[in-house]
Amino acid sequence: MTISSQPVAAISGAASGIGLALATLYARRGVRVIAGYYPDDPHDPAAAAAQVEAAGGEALWLPLDVADTASVDAFISQGVNHFGRLDYVIANAGILRCSPIEEMSDERWNAMLNVDLTGVMRCFRAAARHLGDGASLVAISSIAGGVYGWQEHAHYAAAKAAVPGICRSLAVELAPRGVRCNAVIPGLIETPQSLDKQNSLGPEGLAKAAKSIPLQRVGRPEDIARVVAFLTSAESSYLTGQSLIVDGGLTVR
Ligand code: NAD
Repeated sequence: MTISSQPVAAISGAASGIGLALATLYARRGVRVIAGYYPDDPHDPAAAAAQVEAAGGEALWLPLDVADTASVDAFISQGVNHFGRLDYVIANAGILRCSPIEEMSDERWNAMLNVDLTGVMRCFRAAARHLGDGASLVAISSIAGGVYGWQEHAHYAAAKAAVPGICRSLAVELAPRGVRCNAVIPGLIETPQSLDKQNSLGPEGLAKAAKSIPLQRVGRPEDIARVVAFLTSAESSYLTGQSLIVDGGLTVR
């Protein structure tokens, strides 16, 4: 076990996109990382680990399936055993699958909610007993969950809509221990998820969408990572139970 005063952050879905950008940013800022990678995913955790290491950070990479309670519990406990503490938990892992309502089987619906909604709760539940004064939880929601209608994504919308509710409840429940909990609501961010043409916009769709975004570009994973890092830092010490929309102005135009 390594004991040090440097904070430790656990991140689900850390091998790509927003999770990888955040692990890299934390590495640069001296936050040690318990990085969860999904073994069934094509993203190469070795390449992600090399990127975080090159940023000067200390990271422990562990397999993680947020749809499986035993996997989440093992991820958190192995991370805490290794580093000796846990300060921040970022429930970032998520999936996106298109489904017209006529084809929305119970199985599809439940599989989505199991990852994008219950997966968030599992991460926070496993972490809760390790958290003390100054700790911070952040969950990644989506504009599709509240302020932006998107066809063929009813299950994704339902899961993402519920995430800020989890954060509001935990903000009140954990405040007496000095633990904060907030959600980040990204707009269109260029990551493997949004570049997937089959289930999301794909490269051409993103380029087209950029024109209707007031800031005239889609988001970069780093745009979200910096907001998450703000929410876990002492800079936001009086901010809890909130949901920050980070979308380049897409939903206010
Ligand atoms: P991404 O596909 O690069 O990242 C998602 C990560 O979750 C991947 O590393 C994947 O391996 C992991 N994952 C998938 N299933 C998992 C499971 N069962 N257990 C553990 N990990 C699992 O895409 P991203 O855009 O970086 O997504 C990060 C989060 O941001 C997701 O929750 C996503 O829904 C949300 N989001 C993304 C956008 C966008 O435009 N990209 C917009 C709003 C919200």
